[in-house]
Amino acid sequence: AKQAGRNGYSIYDTSMRRRAERALAIQRGLHAAIEDGSLSLHYQSKHDSATGAIVGAEALARWTHPELGEVPPMEFIAVAERSGQIGRIGEWVIREACRQIGAWRGQGMAPLRIAINLSPLQLNQSGFVDTAARIAAEAGVDPALILFEVTESIAMENAERTRLMLRDFRERGFEFAIDDFGTGYSSLAYLQKFQVRQLKIDRFFVQALDEGGPEARAIIAAIIDLAHTLAIEVVAEGVETQLQASVLRTLGCDQLQGYHFSRPLPPEEFERHCRTLMVL
Ligand code: C2E
Ligand code: CA
Ligand code: CA
Ligand code: CA
Repeated sequence: AKQAGRNGYSIYDTSMRRRAERALAIQRGLHAAIEDGSLSLHYQSKHDSATGAIVGAEALARWTHPELGEVPPMEFIAVAERSGQIGRIGEWVIREACRQIGAWRGQGMAPLRIAINLSPLQLNQSGFVDTAARIAAEAGVDPALILFEVTESIAMENAERTRLMLRDFRERGFEFAIDDFGTGYSSLAYLQKFQVRQLKIDRFFVQALDEGGPEARAIIAAIIDLAHTLAIEVVAEGVETQLQASVLRTLGCDQLQGYHFSRPLPPEEFERHCRTLMVL
């Protein structure tokens, strides 16, 4: 970097400063976001691979900043983790998902298991299990209707601690999924000890199916076999094409999720999507 010279440094400083300013604007905006309703959840359906029926949905956070416009969840979640706001936001996500489950029940919709993403800090927060249980109880929602998604790399970071956490959650009746599976390094022993309900095959492998080589197919087949041996359901995420869907179905993948079926939708559009599929 020493050879970069004066201009190199100043360009570097400028982009650094812009990034820092953007992060600060996001942090400030998030402060108000929970109260002002600018934070919302979209829902993306998970489909039974054999019948195409909707068997669940993943809640994905959406946020429009007053000046910056739509900020991707990866970005504002990362800011919230650094600024210590993740606790409040994470609780809001659970409360909002529970409220929505109750609202759908009130409309007579068949109950769907809703997946909620957890960030590493939430998983490590002491008392988080109690908080989640309290929020569900206050909303009158059966914890079995909530499935928390945790990425493989985070689950494996401290596998023994994760095992104990998951046990606590299970004792309260919550379900778990290991997200982005295949990108980290799970030990078979832990996968069994975690007693999760689902493994979600990372989008990377699903997209690699299009390249036609045998590798992606073999890896997915191996993951499915492994999971089924442990009585774990397998969900493929990021399914974008008919071809991917049919290969995954052939390989015995239990559930499919992705743009081929539906994008993440705001609640009213999600309801319409559910109704459309039911009359088919
Ligand atoms: P993720 O949990 O792996 O979620 C899947 C991402 O893939 C979502 O991006 C989803 O919109 C996108 N996706 C779904 N189907 C397809 C497809 O067919 N093709 C492609 N290319 N993409 C697809 P999104 O909504 O931008 O979320 C990104 C990440 O942000 C999530 O990754 C998750 O890690 C995080 N996130 C989102 N909402 C929350 C939340 O409420 N709490 C926490 N802690 N993290 C969240
Ligand atoms: Ca997820
Ligand atoms: Ca994922
Ligand atoms: Ca991901």
